[in-house]
Amino acid sequence: MALLTKSKYLAGLQCPKLLWFLINDKEKVPEPLREAQYRMDVGTEVGVLATKLFPGGISIPTNDFKGNLNITKENLSKNVPLFEAGIMANNCFSRIDILKPNSDGSFDIIEVKSGTRVKDENIHDVSFQRYCCEMVGLEIARCSLCFINNQYVREGELNINELFTIQDITAEVVQAQQDIQERIDEFFNIIKSPNLPSVSIGGHCSSPYSCNLMDECWGFLPKNNVFTLYNGGKKSTELFSKEIHSIADIPDGFKLTNNQEIQRKCEQTGEVHIQPFEIKQFLDTLIYPLYHLDFETFSPAIPKYDNSRPYQKIPFQFSLHIEQEDGSTEHISFLAEGKEDPRPAFLVKLKEVLGTQGSVVVYNQVFEKWVLNTLARDFPEYKGWVNQILLRIVDLLIPFRSFNYYHPSQQGSASLKRVLPALTEESYEGMEIADGGDASLRYEEITFCDVTEEERAKVRGNLEKYCELDTWAEVIIIRNLKEIVGNSNI
Ligand code: SF4
Repeated sequence: MALLTKSKYLAGLQCPKLLWFLINDKEKVPEPLREAQYRMDVGTEVGVLATKLFPGGISIPTNDFKGNLNITKENLSKNVPLFEAGIMANNCFSRIDILKPNSDGSFDIIEVKSGTRVKDENIHDVSFQRYCCEMVGLEIARCSLCFINNQYVREGELNINELFTIQDITAEVVQAQQDIQERIDEFFNIIKSPNLPSVSIGGHCSSPYSCNLMDECWGFLPKNNVFTLYNGGKKSTELFSKEIHSIADIPDGFKLTNNQEIQRKCEQTGEVHIQPFEIKQFLDTLIYPLYHLDFETFSPAIPKYDNSRPYQKIPFQFSLHIEQEDGSTEHISFLAEGKEDPRPAFLVKLKEVLGTQGSVVVYNQVFEKWVLNTLARDFPEYKGWVNQILLRIVDLLIPFRSFNYYHPSQQGSASLKRVLPALTEESYEGMEIADGGDASLRYEEITFCDVTEEERAKVRGNLEKYCELDTWAEVIIIRNLKEIVGNSNI
């Protein structure tokens, strides 16, 4: 009979269909993407670090399933914390990050997470562990979650007592455990059934985890489906429940926002929506020379540098196209080298090239402003300069977020990746690195992992190409917007 592991129990809570696939048709479940794998690796690293909070503990090897169970049994009476203890009962198997004995013979469960707060799924996760422990006769006194304190500021050696927060979640776990036996029985029935459970798609496909079976279950939807409705939220779900799948099929009486109406109209007519007057108003705010700017950052869970916090966005790269009013451009870039904190060199170079006047054009100012403000906080000698730059920022997202221009191929998105091919001949297709998440993962890999010089050089080249396209995209988007306004004779 198949085992119900902790991860499968959590999968069952998210979606019975996912649980069924994981046991009965595993080949259909794609391997986790690079980003998901990275998050798992971070979780492992954080888990190992947290064991240092419990000196004298024993790490139970996990490479051999039966060995892990046996070694756990042998060590339960040793009165020391056990790391990765394996507990199996009634075909339910759970591995416990930290199982800490108390003087009265009871144990505490401490689950380590790389997140920065307690989430519902963590409670269910621990309730399953507690269930397994109790089924083999262990008394569990307390359950806690050990997670990252994102207010911790590193200075010198890592202070793990400050890096981690431990929160008692016993009451929540006991509550979540109330109907656990019924749930487990139901999950075993699903596992045993030869038939795939019938489950509709919906919000549960991306929460609490992004399901790897999206292609399998969502593939029947048309390209411009109701889930691509701009800021669709509950409206998308409502439309889908009424069996309206395509945006073009949304009936006239259905209440939509102005932008959603534009999207629907474009879908129905196949035409582009253009508001030349509003686009001109935006273009009139630009002051030449234009400094088209884009940052790339990475966010280590465990802070690597002094004066930085867990998950803080650390800028390691920028691309800058300086464009004069006559259309001539110059490209300047920065990509950090080595393991040192990239921020000082980043700031020196950025200050050197950003000039003193002219608009600083970014795409989605929230990100660049956040990075600049954080740099000013951590390097106060740059505060005055940063404040001047902030005043010069113009956000090229504005005309697209306002639907002053909308092309059906944008599929309800105003992101640069969608706007660029909609408005120009260029796109990110075929690029080795094609989004910010990938850029940050690849930078971390070539900076902190063991890779060949050849690989490092190749990835650095791809990072340069990717970031350069982000700012070149801004240049050509503005050129196209100008042409649109010019052709409209306003
Ligand atoms: S994509 Fe959605 S419906 Fe399909 S298995 Fe995953 S969670 Fe379930």
